[in-house]
Amino acid sequence: MNERIGNCEGPDCEKALQNLYLFIDQEIDSASSSEIQAHIDECSDCLGEFDLERVVKSLVSRSCSEVAPEPLRQKVLVSIRTVQVHISETKTH
Ligand SMILES: [Zn+2]
Repeated sequence: MNERIGNCEGPDCEKALQNLYLFIDQEIDSASSSEIQAHIDECSDCLGEFDLERVVKSLVSRSCSEVAPEPLRQKVLVSIRTVQVHISETKTH
């Protein structure tokens, strides 16, 4: 029974998600960074969140070198969420 669906829970997940943006921006010290990396390797929920943010960030920065357009970001987020929901629905059956 180690199947978990939905949002991350527990102190490790909380910590990882709190530092997610710093981690992606590489604005975190290397000790914390490797802690988060280790957690993401083990936790699919956090990995999902990490991938989502990283994908959005890279898409936004690639498509526009100036200020990230909010409508684009929302659009990307929605489409990725839809895929994620689809994946987790598939997993539960
Ligand atoms: Zn986690």
